[in-house]
Amino acid sequence: MRRIPISALASLGYCERYFYLRYVLGLRLRATRALIKGANQHRLSMRLDTAKRYGRENIQELVARLRDASGVVVLPRETLRLSFVHDGCTFVGRADRVLKLKNIALVVEEKFVSRSSGRVRRSYEYQLAGYCHALKFGRTGYSAGSWVSWLPRELFRRLEVRYMVVERCASTRRVLFASRPRKYRREDFLRVLDRALGILRGEVRPSPRDSCRGCSLAGVCA
Ligand code: SF4
Repeated sequence: MRRIPISALASLGYCERYFYLRYVLGLRLRATRALIKGANQHRLSMRLDTAKRYGRENIQELVARLRDASGVVVLPRETLRLSFVHDGCTFVGRADRVLKLKNIALVVEEKFVSRSSGRVRRSYEYQLAGYCHALKFGRTGYSAGSWVSWLPRELFRRLEVRYMVVERCASTRRVLFASRPRKYRREDFLRVLDRALGILRGEVRPSPRDSCRGCSLAGVCA
């Protein structure tokens, strides 16, 4: 079964041709300064994270806290492994952060940018809807090291799932934009998935656009 990163859906939201070049033709990205900065900031976020880290020995405590309908749980960054299967493909990923606020699961994605657009880009929407879909219909594991503890499937299924994006300055970490939480909508996301699978199967072959500024694949796109 083919494995696709859930983050690939961000590429699809950015440009279908970009998704095609990366995940059908297999073109690799150069490690640009922006990508390196973003990866470093994510590592720093994990170090600065003050949420309680659960070890294997207290996973049952975590499960009990997630089951508690009135409880609030802030999971440490990048500790939830998420996956779902759709039409012969397994989509896998890790959300930056997941919070359980009573009957709501909130997926928060941090993006490190040089300039904020002040809106929820389509690329963010697609990626975050992928994490939400995995929480609702897929498999969730807690991992704070090389081990994974798979969590009971019903833990997140009974919750309403929402997502939000926080854009931070890639140099200073200052928050430039924080969206309002949005509801995950299954029917909208299934349309995105079908489009992605149509491209992966070769049923759709997106054409280059006329003008693209700042795309890292511009040199090989046409
Ligand atoms: S150059 Fe334009 S059409 Fe080609 S992948 Fe980049 S954004 Fe898409």
